[in-house]
Amino acid sequence: MIFETEKIKNLPVDSIGELPKNKDAIKLNSNESPHKLPKEIQTAVLQELDNMNLYPDANCTDLKNKLAIKLNKDFSLKLTNENIFVANGSDEVLAFLVQAFFENCEKPFIFPSITYCPDVWAELYSAKYRTVANLENFQIDVKGLQTEECSGVYIANPNTTGLVLSLSSVEELVKFHNGKRLVVVDEAYVDFGGESAVQLVEKYDNLLITRSFSKSYGMAGYRLGYAVAHKDIINALSTLKDTFGIVGVNRLSLKAGETVLDYENEVKENISKINSTREWFVIRLHENNFITIPSVTNFVWVKIENRGMPAKEYVDKLKETGIYVRYFGSGWNKDWIRITIGTREQMEKVINAMQ
Ligand SMILES: *Cc1c(COP(=O)(O)O)cnc(C)c1O
Repeated sequence: MIFETEKIKNLPVDSIGELPKNKDAIKLNSNESPHKLPKEIQTAVLQELDNMNLYPDANCTDLKNKLAIKLNKDFSLKLTNENIFVANGSDEVLAFLVQAFFENCEKPFIFPSITYCPDVWAELYSAKYRTVANLENFQIDVKGLQTEECSGVYIANPNTTGLVLSLSSVEELVKFHNGKRLVVVDEAYVDFGGESAVQLVEKYDNLLITRSFSKSYGMAGYRLGYAVAHKDIINALSTLKDTFGIVGVNRLSLKAGETVLDYENEVKENISKINSTREWFVIRLHENNFITIPSVTNFVWVKIENRGMPAKEYVDKLKETGIYVRYFGSGWNKDWIRITIGTREQMEKVINAMQ
């Protein structure tokens, strides 16, 4: 195939969880929220349909302004819209930043061996990278990430294991690299637990935080995410983005993002429902002798052993009952499955099926 170049052939394609064909399936394989948002958001989005003959604001000014107000309130800061970059999901922020800051570096950019998928973008942009093994208990090796032999660092906090690092550990890492290299903290799950590093942004000009509307806000379908950082970092990202022409976030997603920020209490209620359902579910798992990784997020890793079948088959069996969970199946998680926390009712069905 003439179009299957070496580059295309070797890309480590990332994918989301399988989309069930049956509408009644319980979909717990992509860490989506089971909760709906207030109707007012839909209404605002529907009204925006009237303007779809016009390009969206590529600078996302209104959303950035509202995010700055929110973050300043949450963390007593004085950020402006120059500290914020908005994109189609935090995935797109990450793709842009790998290209902007790590593409042509002599030294590799580094990240924990168990984390989200920065390797995908590194391969895409031919950026050198190296992973640092997680500790025995799956925790991130913060000391191991403190090395001069890198072009920058990526961590997710909370991590994709469900574990969280203390703010002081994150600060230690940012401080070590300050003045020399970028440290990226992916906070896709931070609303469920853990302390946000956003409060460090005014103190350190080498810190970039990515955040998402997909998980805690229950807006995965809109594809909306953002970065918070020193204005020079944001400026570099914006310049790169603007070379793509008039790209950016569409009007409906911008409107949804702007509107949901007026409904933070409702969002918080959904988050606390998920957290209490997770606590309930984990207790049931332990009662049934399942081993889990402690989680402060909207998912939990469960070890499948002594269940008369390997993890892969276990996931297929659950699927036969209409429950979709995630199996990644290579390396450390060969015997582990990842279950997103749905509604209490859904999780009761899951625990029944697992019993
Ligand atoms: C889901 C997820 C993302 C992607 O979020 P989007 O905003 O939907 O692109 C990024 N990082 C981590 C750790 C995630 O789990």
